[in-house]
Amino acid sequence: MHIKTAAVLGAGTMGAQIAAHLANAGVPALLLDITPEAAREGFERARALKPDPFFTPEAQSLVRTGGFDDGLAQISSCDWIIEAIVERLDIKQSLFERVERHRGAEGIVSSNTSGIPIAALAEGRSEGFRRHFLGTHFFNPPRYLHLLEVIPTADTEPAVLETIRHFADRRLGKGVVVAKDTPNFIANHLGLFGVMQVFRALESGQYTIEEIDAMTGPAVGRPKSATFRTMDIAGIDVLAHVARNLAERLESPEVRAVFKLPPLVDDLVARGWVGAKTGQGFYRKEPTGEISTLDPKTMTYRARQPARLPSLDAARSIDDVGERIRALYNGKDKAGQFLRDTLGPTLEYAARVAPGIAHSNEDVDKAMRWGFGWDLGPFETLAAIRGTASREPRATSHDQRVREVRRNAGASLVDLGDGALCVEFHSKMNAIGGDTIQMLHAGVKEAAANFQALVVGNRAVNFSAGANLMLLLLEAQEGNWDEVDMMVRAFQGATMALKHSEVPVVVAPAGLALGGGCEIALHGDAVQAAAETYIGLVEVGVGLIPAGGGTKEMLARAMDAAPSNADPLPFVQRVFETIGFAKVATSGPDAKRIGYFRPTDGITMNRDRLLEDAKARALARVVDYVPPRPRTAIRVGGDGLLAALKLGVHLAWRAGRISDHDALIGRKLAWILAGGNLTHAGTLTEQQVLDLEREAFLSLCGERKTQERIAHTLKTGKPLRN
Ligand code: NAD
Repeated sequence: MHIKTAAVLGAGTMGAQIAAHLANAGVPALLLDITPEAAREGFERARALKPDPFFTPEAQSLVRTGGFDDGLAQISSCDWIIEAIVERLDIKQSLFERVERHRGAEGIVSSNTSGIPIAALAEGRSEGFRRHFLGTHFFNPPRYLHLLEVIPTADTEPAVLETIRHFADRRLGKGVVVAKDTPNFIANHLGLFGVMQVFRALESGQYTIEEIDAMTGPAVGRPKSATFRTMDIAGIDVLAHVARNLAERLESPEVRAVFKLPPLVDDLVARGWVGAKTGQGFYRKEPTGEISTLDPKTMTYRARQPARLPSLDAARSIDDVGERIRALYNGKDKAGQFLRDTLGPTLEYAARVAPGIAHSNEDVDKAMRWGFGWDLGPFETLAAIRGTASREPRATSHDQRVREVRRNAGASLVDLGDGALCVEFHSKMNAIGGDTIQMLHAGVKEAAANFQALVVGNRAVNFSAGANLMLLLLEAQEGNWDEVDMMVRAFQGATMALKHSEVPVVVAPAGLALGGGCEIALHGDAVQAAAETYIGLVEVGVGLIPAGGGTKEMLARAMDAAPSNADPLPFVQRVFETIGFAKVATSGPDAKRIGYFRPTDGITMNRDRLLEDAKARALARVVDYVPPRPRTAIRVGGDGLLAALKLGVHLAWRAGRISDHDALIGRKLAWILAGGNLTHAGTLTEQQVLDLEREAFLSLCGERKTQERIAHTLKTGKPLRN
């Protein structure tokens, strides 16, 4: 069974975004609702969402909308029909009755219900329908949240389950966990239990909302939005709905009582203070931009009070999240008490109910990691607290069995098996410094001697945030130009070594791949990127230009695409704007559109499978692989082109759209892209363009405003417009 076309019934919050994600996977999706207008509006709402549920504007054209009355007949040709209408058993059942009349004999039907028993939804339907029916519980937002809980009933055919599981994993890129048909399945059930413990602690009056968020965020390996901010984002009404469902449907009366909502939540829902979508919940954004916090006693908002918890500050120095949780949990202070009162019972509860709701403890851990962004699932956390956690890196089912060949502080060489070697970064934010560069060189050498192919990739959230700017700033402030020159030469040497490696090199970016990270990707023989890759040459933001071969590579690619008799300006102009505006792609396919990836580069939807795919791609290149020869003739436009680019810079500056410093950087960039001081169009060698890059980079490093930009970005993580 293959999924080639799909229908989504219900164009609300979830339905419209699920349709968008099917389109991201290249699957045409029919999005239906009560009326054609309702479906259209749902689609338009999804289009306007931030972050974007669509990878590219082109993906939007794969979604067609319509009403149930006319549209349902078309589901006969759909391989998968996903129901995402209002959470009411009777309404869903009557829709399934209509679906049954139109479904093709092999059409798979699933419900996105978050709490209604899947078997109950299929009651009254034919055997054929029931064999093709199951639950598929997406998390909001469906593009970005990794978890998909798949819930077969006793009647679901194994082949149907397998089809959906495979498609969701490979094509939609989801982390699939097969759950048992119990109230609210795995992640929401356990997540809500934890939230209920936190509410009890809040009611005790011992902790502020900020303190609780500080104790339930990154300190314990949870997302920055921690507890209350997460509820504001997800919607306090949505949370209340799930809790009520659990309080009604769970078997044991004692456990049902645990899920009884505190009066505070009822009050918030009654007032309509349900979080970000209504402008206020546990936090409120003031017109001034300040965030204020709810005082639950008076139901008014007060200025935010940063939490002061010394043990959290102390724990920050512990890198390993398991050890950090253990230290905090056993602490004699307020944070330790809080964790023992809230996390402790949650872990015990998870251990008690796991066999009833999941097929393994590992599945429970995955559900919490993928659905709630926890670094460690409940069983991993328990092991960490008891000190029985295995020291081995976690071996998920998709992980390559890897053997480390070599390691320094910034990167490792690991043997991926089957003749593939991998350079894996592991510095902070995977910033590129001397260690990383050294390991790239070592990787190219080692691969040529003992392997057949090389992969540059890692298992971190972010491939690389770019070059280590701190080092650069220190040298620049000291005026150590020889040092800066050497740093740039070393990086250029590394990217060129990748490009001219004797064995094929596949670069595998995921998450952020900025600046130098992008330049590495530009120098692979091929790229295999995660669909969620945010890649860009962002150097201009810190007052620089890409000098690790990035400008050269973008120029060469643009000129290769330009017919020899064509005016090169539009081709170079595009590169000029990409680098000049520091464009960052919003997805892997978007990076192809911008030109950071080639049309032939590969996209892996499931980030967990990226290294496996990159390795396969690299090995597929091995037979007959001929490394590219150093380019001797990159076409450049000369001073005619330079004048045109400079005029553009001048006009933008005169119109007040760019600052003096932007204009200076623009002129330097134009200089490289035109080929320096050539009086007419001609050609340059790769090395000559690299020299132009380096020269421009060095001169910009000497500018006070560039140093200010770098310092600002290091401090705030944001660019400075000066
Ligand atoms: P929503 O309210 O945004 O959308 C519901 C859709 O159902 C609307 O487009 C509406 O037009 C349609 N609808 C209403 N009454 C109908 C009727 N009588 N017949 C047919 N259609 C009708 O809801 P949502 O948040 O998108 O939730 C949809 C489903 O997904 C629910 O089962 C919900 O439990 C589940 N879910 C929601 C979330 C979430 O975070 N919002 C997460 C996971 C699962």
